[in-house]
Parts: sequence; structure tokens; C-alpha cells
Amino acid sequence: MAADVVITPGMQKYIDKNNAYLAKRDAFIRDVVKKWKFDTIAVHGLYNVEEAIEDYQGSIIEPVFMSTSQAYRDSDEMAAALAYLIPTWCYSRIANPSTYYYEWTLALLEGYGFAGESSAVSTSSGIAAIMTAVQPFLVQTKKSGHEQRNFVATAQCYGGTFQQFKVRLEEERGIECRWVQDPTNLDEWLSKIDGNTRFLYGELPSNPGLGFFDIAKVAELAHAHGLPLICDATVATPALMRPICHGADIVVQSATKTLTSSGFGVCGALIARRNLVSNVPNPEMKKDFALYTKYLPNRDHGPNLHPLQAILALNDIRTLRSKVDMMSQSTMKVAQWLETHPMIESVQYLGLKNHPLHELASKYMWLVDSEFDPCYGGKKVNRYGHLMSFCVKGGAEKARKVFDGLQRIWRATDLGRIKSVATIPAISTHQQQGEEGRKLAGIPPNLIRLCVGGEHPDDTIGDLDQALAKAR
Ligand SMILES: *Cc1c(COP(=O)(O)O)cnc(C)c1O
Repeated sequence: MAADVVITPGMQKYIDKNNAYLAKRDAFIRDVVKKWKFDTIAVHGLYNVEEAIEDYQGSIIEPVFMSTSQAYRDSDEMAAALAYLIPTWCYSRIANPSTYYYEWTLALLEGYGFAGESSAVSTSSGIAAIMTAVQPFLVQTKKSGHEQRNFVATAQCYGGTFQQFKVRLEEERGIECRWVQDPTNLDEWLSKIDGNTRFLYGELPSNPGLGFFDIAKVAELAHAHGLPLICDATVATPALMRPICHGADIVVQSATKTLTSSGFGVCGALIARRNLVSNVPNPEMKKDFALYTKYLPNRDHGPNLHPLQAILALNDIRTLRSKVDMMSQSTMKVAQWLETHPMIESVQYLGLKNHPLHELASKYMWLVDSEFDPCYGGKKVNRYGHLMSFCVKGGAEKARKVFDGLQRIWRATDLGRIKSVATIPAISTHQQQGEEGRKLAGIPPNLIRLCVGGEHPDDTIGDLDQALAKAR
């Protein structure tokens, strides 16, 4: 990679050997793994019997490499590795075999049904994935001096994303964040783009407001201006929606959430299409964005994922589709029940027909591979995830009473769990951004966010019922 690397004959031998390995791996992806159904990829990823027996003493589960670094046979191998001329993991801040399997599983799941190629980089959290995704587009060179830079993002987004964009990027670095109020309005997106725009960013469905937009149309708009579209699809997971298949360039995932529903820690990932669109003149970045960020900016910034965390997450991801299906169905039942309750002002769930974004969400969110499942009659079935929210009549005080009365549903600033969890965003996740910011994001003070877990829905409804009765 570096211009001054001299390739010795010894190094060339390693390069040839590793090129043969890469060719074999790429053929395995192309001819075998890409032909599997979603569940098979989720269960196995790239880890296979042959690799296990050759390299990992036959371990049927991907090994956890709790090691800082990798040893080399000789100086030629070391020189080739550190110049990134051969696949290597070097040092766990850069890469690690355990995170490698996690990355490939996510790259293939987000790229499921996509004709092109996708790749992924693991990060220590979802927020680190967002930072990893946006930074390379915001560069300014020493030569060019201070450049006016801006980006356009959906105002309805995760509270931590709002802070990163508003405080870290805009206030501290002078990079303007232009919020889109109604992302279903293409003219609003368009009106915020100019020659200094670097990327478009959209969270969908948004947490907790369930904002949504037409991915294909916004991607088309972005590309017409030479810009990439970055989507945060945490709430949907690839089991329900894969933005790259609809034209998005990069997807960020807080794998902490539904992907790792057990709640075993914080982790993230960025998945990108190869050859993405950008007006930043960096061919290497555009060619394989995930690999580029992994090997260069993230090496220098250090937001790497711990190998143990990668395998804990992988273990949850194996059963993603069936869990998301079950939890989505339960959420629908809970939402329908809440709608009929006299103390409830409104219920927000994309699965409800009266939700203004129901039609649009139905175009993009369905249970992957449901058309191959005879119990769904050979058709794609829509599923809307397990995040919903509701507003309690009587304002903030009444909402807190209901919230405090919950007995088994956990009060925590969390979502995506196999256990039902509730939050009041105005006093927790969206507290930092103040009244104005909350208004911008559409978060009223009497809104309770509920993420329905894997319990039987009757029991979840039972808990809500008694909490509402007590607060009456
Ligand atoms: C939680 C969350 C994040 C941040 O992820 P962490 O893993 O907590 O850093 C980003 N986007 C959405 C939609 C989230 O829900």
C-alpha cells in the first residue's frame, strides 16, 4: 500500500500463497454462500468444516481469539502483512479472526439479495459505526485549508446520533448538519443539498419516532449529486430490511440492539457496497469502504470491537430471523390492544394501518425469505419489528405513573432485547438534546417507548393492563 514498499522474492511467495487463499474464499462466497438462504448464512457465515479442521482444531464454534497480536513466520511475511499485501490481522486494534467472522456474517446478511458485493467493518458500538461511516466523507486536506462542509440528515434519529452530529461535528468542528424534518418529502432533501454537501444520512425506522422514507428515491437523489446515502437500519435489522439492496451505499448497525437480543454487551458494524458514490476524491475509499476504514482510519482512531463480544453477538445473530418474526407478531398484538385502551392517547407502530407511514414501510419491510415458508402461503409477509411507542392521556405525569407501575417490563434505556423493555425518551435517551431538539425529533413528554420481547404477548399485555389500571 505505502508507495515505498519494496517487494522481495520472499514476500512475493507469501503474496502468491495468500492470493490463492483469497481466490478460494471468494469462490466459496460466490458459488456457495451467496446461494444459501438467509438463515443458513446467519448460522454459518464463512466459518466452515474445512477451515475449522485445518486451522482451529475442529472447533465447531468460531473460536474467540483473546490475543493482542499475530506472529509471523519470518521478516518477509511480516513485511508483506504490515504493508497489507496479504490478508492479515496483525494486531487486534486493526483486525482479529473472531471479528472477521462477525464482519462477514453481517456483510452477507445486509447484502442478502444484492447483486453486487458488500463488506463490513466491526466497531465497538453503534455510535462508533456512525463515526466510522461519516468521517471519511468530511475530510479536508491541509492544502485546501478550511472548507465549507455540510451533510443532510433526518431530524428523527437516535439521541446519541443527534449529539454526535450537532455537538461533535457542527459545534466543535464547524461542519454544518442540515436536518430534514419530513424525509418523505424529496424536495426538502433536495433543498438542503449544495456543492459542499458530503453525504445524506437517514435513520429508518427511527428510534423512537418510527420515521421512515423512500430509500430508493433518496438514494437516487443522493447519487444524482454524487453523494452516498448512509442508513441507520438498527431497528429493522437485515431480517426485515436491507437498504443496500435498494440503493443505499452504507448501512450502520447498532448490533447492541436486536442483532444481539440477549443483551450481552455493546457492539456495532458498518456494511458498505463496493464501489460506492462519493464526491471525495479517494478511489481506495470508494472501492471498498469497509476495508478501507478498517485498515486505515479505524487503525488510527481505535474503535475496534472486542473478539469475545464479536462471538457473543454472532451467537445471537444465528437465530435472528425467527426471533424478529416472533417479536414482530407479538408487538402487533400489543399495539392493537393498546389502541383500544381508554387511557391511551395514541399508539405509534408501523404495522398499524392507521400509521401515516404504514404503506411506505410495507414497501420495504417484510420478513426475509417468508415467500419460501409454506406457512405464509408462499408470499412475502410484512413484519414491522418490535419497537413501538404510545402516548398516555394526561401528560408527562400520568405517563410516569404508568411507567412506574410496570412489574415485569424492564425500565431501562435499552431496546432490541429478548426481554420487554420500556423507556420514557424525554427523560432518558433524548434528555440531552433539550426541549427544542425533542420537538425537532418529535418526542412528546408523555411518550413511552416499548420494545416488545420474546415473552408471550398475553403476559406483556397483562403487565401493561395492571400498570394502566393502577395509574387511573
Ligand atoms: C442504540 C442506537 C445507536 C447507538 O448504538 P450503540 O451501540 O448504543 O452505540 C444508533 N442508532 C440507533 C437507531 C440506536 O438505537
